[in-house]
Amino acid sequence: PFELTGKSVYVAGHRGMVGSALARRLAREDVKLVTVDRREVDLCNQAAVFDWFAKTRPEVIFVAAAKVGGIVANDTLRAEFIYDNIAIAANVIHAAYLNGAEKLMFLGSSCIYPKLAPQPLREDTVLSGPLEPTNEPYAIAKIAGIKMVEAYRRQFGSDFISVMPTNLYGPGDNYHPEQSHVVAALIRRFHEAKVAGAKSVAVWGTGTPRREFLYVDDMADACVCLMKTYSSAELINIGTGEDITIAEFARVVAEIVGYSGEIAFDSSRPDGTPRKLLDVSRLAKLGWRARTRLTDGMRQTYQDFLAVSAKSDK
Ligand code: GDP
Repeated sequence: PFELTGKSVYVAGHRGMVGSALARRLAREDVKLVTVDRREVDLCNQAAVFDWFAKTRPEVIFVAAAKVGGIVANDTLRAEFIYDNIAIAANVIHAAYLNGAEKLMFLGSSCIYPKLAPQPLREDTVLSGPLEPTNEPYAIAKIAGIKMVEAYRRQFGSDFISVMPTNLYGPGDNYHPEQSHVVAALIRRFHEAKVAGAKSVAVWGTGTPRREFLYVDDMADACVCLMKTYSSAELINIGTGEDITIAEFARVVAEIVGYSGEIAFDSSRPDGTPRKLLDVSRLAKLGWRARTRLTDGMRQTYQDFLAVSAKSDK
């Protein structure tokens, strides 16, 4: 196993939902956590990244920085999603190599798998067919990162690995009404509907797509565990192994938020990929499994939403 104790560990993207969960999880390890503010180092800026790495020389790196968003953000900000994510991956992975990092973990996404790959999605189905068009720019950027990790491993012997998380949710999510992912979007919309006493609330699409949701603190725990134990050119999926329809998920949100009105499906909005359940057998063989039940994670996330909105009301 790889020894984390005493190492300087850089979390790229520490202000994001995943990066902040990683920082919380790493606080329980005996490591020196290193972060740097976006105003100081823009990860899309190669010179800034290279300078900072040469000065700081972190030994272990989690690449949790990315430009992310829900189905509409992915589909409309296509140029930003491909450029920013390719730049972040290229700059951080190459800087880690140049400065002799001992280990690096690149965080991908389940959207790298072909739209119609067999479910549950196995790691070896990457690049076996066309991608879901709504998030193709983001997926291509993530695939570039994965292929960099693989290439640096092969050519230079770097101990770089890639993990593929399923749809994540939890504290620190972005609650933007249009650009967020489904979990944050529905928490906000159902909460506002409850407060306004609305009789009906809209859920995008048909309600039939299936999604798997992993609580971000479980994701962070899996990442730290894999950083210590996993060293392979093979991708590794991180998920719960279970999925539900968007319609079922909307009922969970209604229950947690305490909204009792009608739920209306707006099929003028996109459904995206029909299903993306990850095959988590590779991870299960290493003895890791998700612990947070969806209702428990959703309760925590709703509390976070309430805290964030109370702050922004002031
Ligand atoms: P995806 O998993 O990459 O498709 O990303 P999203 O989290 O944006 O969407 C997941 C599913 O939830 C899709 O089928 C959406 O159509 C559906 N969905 C339902 N209501 C909403 C909403 O208000 N916002 C978002 N982003 N998705 C929604």
